[in-house]
Amino acid sequence: MRQLVHRVKRAARRRAISRENLSFLGSSYGSRGAHPLLRFPVAERIAETKGLLRMSVTQTRAETAAGKSCWSCNAAANGAHFCPACGKIQPLPRDTNYFALFGLPERLGIDAGALEQQFHKLSWKLHPDNFVRADEFERNLSLERSSELNDAYRTLSDPLARVEYLLEHEGMRKEGTTKQQAPPELLEEVFELNESLDELREARESGEGVNELRGPLESAQSDFQGKLADVDGELNAVFEKWDAALDSGASKDARAALMAQMNEILNRRSYIRNLVANVEQELTKTS
Ligand SMILES: [Zn+2]
Repeated sequence: MRQLVHRVKRAARRRAISRENLSFLGSSYGSRGAHPLLRFPVAERIAETKGLLRMSVTQTRAETAAGKSCWSCNAAANGAHFCPACGKIQPLPRDTNYFALFGLPERLGIDAGALEQQFHKLSWKLHPDNFVRADEFERNLSLERSSELNDAYRTLSDPLARVEYLLEHEGMRKEGTTKQQAPPELLEEVFELNESLDELREARESGEGVNELRGPLESAQSDFQGKLADVDGELNAVFEKWDAALDSGASKDARAALMAQMNEILNRRSYIRNLVANVEQELTKTS
């Protein structure tokens, strides 16, 4: 009797785990790529009534999401794209990120050539054409993994998108409180620039000559473009500090401080970038 109670309890515990994992998989795959087994709650019922065999299939699929073991042969997969034992395509591990996809540390200096090479290699392997004869589960994985790979490559191959992704992934990307707030050291110049822009608009509307107004704007334009280049230089310097911090195993606080610095520079950059774009737009209108 005691043994029976024990067995019932153990089964209940297993069901609870299985249900938890199923709901995780359901939310992770959404409607796009859910395995047929996971799309319906009936899978759960089958797992409960048909006993251990079914249960272990469900659990294997579920554990896969954590990148622990292969969904097909149960060998240790450890987040690999393909099972080292049976070669089957694997789902994306739960805690992965774009850097890990390419087997890279979260460094901001990336060898573009090596990244591209790795991208071509992986996209060849994960391509849906290789899975036309596979079952729906694997076909979906291939689609999902390929589109993920494209996103990852697009993001990592652009230095700005790369740092923004890193900060977002680490929960450190914070836009300026007021998006259009001028950086304090630029206030005066921005004020003057806005005045020149207003003058240009007024002159255009009243049909006056605008040519003599273009000069100051054009010089302000190139001035701000120079500032943009300075900001990029600043950003690159922090990138190098970040990489050095990673390489030397710097503390979490030290890394957070660098990320806050990058975030501030990015906000400043986007402000100046908008300014330059505005002036460009006004100048084109009057050309
Ligand atoms: Zn396997």
